Amino acid sequence: MSAEKMNVRAGIVVTGTELLSGLVTDRNGPWLAQRLDELGVEVAHLVLVGDRPADLAATLRFLADQGVELIVTSGGLGPTADDVTTEVVADFAGVELELDEAMERQIAAILARFRYLAHFSPQALRAANRKQAMVPRGALALDPVGTAPGLVLQVDGGPTVVVLPGPPRELRAMWPSAMSSPAATSVLARTRPFESARLRLFGVPESQIAATLREVGETLDLTPLEITTCLRRAEIVIDIRHRPGAEAIRDGLIEAIRARHARQLFSTDGTSLDDQLAVLLRGRRIGLAESCTGGLLAARLTERPGSSDYVAGGVVAYSNTAKTELLGVPTELIERHGAVSPEVARAMADGARHRFGASAGVGITGVAGPGGGTEAKPVGYVCICVTTGDGAVLARDPVLPGDRAEIRDRSVTVAMHLLRRVLTGAAR
Ligand code: ATP
Repeated sequence: MSAEKMNVRAGIVVTGTELLSGLVTDRNGPWLAQRLDELGVEVAHLVLVGDRPADLAATLRFLADQGVELIVTSGGLGPTADDVTTEVVADFAGVELELDEAMERQIAAILARFRYLAHFSPQALRAANRKQAMVPRGALALDPVGTAPGLVLQVDGGPTVVVLPGPPRELRAMWPSAMSSPAATSVLARTRPFESARLRLFGVPESQIAATLREVGETLDLTPLEITTCLRRAEIVIDIRHRPGAEAIRDGLIEAIRARHARQLFSTDGTSLDDQLAVLLRGRRIGLAESCTGGLLAARLTERPGSSDYVAGGVVAYSNTAKTELLGVPTELIERHGAVSPEVARAMADGARHRFGASAGVGITGVAGPGGGTEAKPVGYVCICVTTGDGAVLARDPVLPGDRAEIRDRSVTVAMHLLRRVLTGAAR
């Protein structure tokens, strides 16, 4: 049997008219997709559907027709009339709803804790309570996290359906018990988990990576690997996924990429630039001088708890006066080369290092736009420099693409990569 035929395929159904109107952004679909992926289940469809019973029923039929073995739904389990998931799933499975009396008592006990409900009519509360305790015959009811129980139902001759509540916190809390139910474990027993590797590169265009993959594919059969390449925050991220057994091919591909892009490949173990800098900066002190990034580098470096061990401080020196008075950048240097110049970026880095008594300094000055660009210094032109107390200097002055926000964000990423190169001794 081919690997393809052995895939367990699933469909995710996220319900809620408020999600379709764009009022609420779906947080359950991507979360469920990631969890299923980790379990080796291939998500074939992720469907967002409103609260109309006919639409939900049509979605379930569609997924069953696609042959998925598992359907996970989110939302529509509450006590109100527009919460229809349980009824629709029971109808889809061709089974009756039955009152689960133990569940009815459990929900009543939960509701009794909500004092504000004391103002409501006891009959209305009982009806709402009873609605939520109706369980399709043969289904396993999962203990409520909010007030609604979840469900796991094996449809006769069809998929296993896992029904979860909409509020993300409740859905996440119920996930482990749903996946350890007998109907779910019997589906999961047929999966083979994916293995994966993530490579990150900086300073290489996407087109060159595409060319590399084509070239490698001529001598190495890459078909057992699922390779996705994307550009994220100025870095290229290559995700490689495969079933057990294709490790040698994966490693062959990684080595081929390393051979061609040794200088640009900075992570093969899943660590991010931020992770690596946090390690490299340990035992050091860094001072920052930022103009066009307005403190974004300081913000990103201090996102991590524990960064006070190495971030001495930063100056947002937007005006020329600030550059001169706070960082000691000579006025003549600014007059001669302009505030956005490699010379000023270097003087800012040195100034930050001295003012903060740091072992490394970073200076960033550039034209973030949309106005202010000239022919010689267009929008996106950014001068970045890293200097250290032992004489290392690494500078770049690229013209970065994008709008103002992207230029500022990319400037920070470039600065962090320069810093990484200096700290790993790879600076040139
Ligand atoms: P409840 O018992 O709280 O009514 P429920 O299962 O009926 O649970 P819904 O009525 O579908 O859940 O959703 C309740 C609220 O949870 C929504 O108004 C929304 O704020 C949030 N929510 C539901 N689904 C999602 C989702 N996919 N992503 C983000 N938030 C969601």
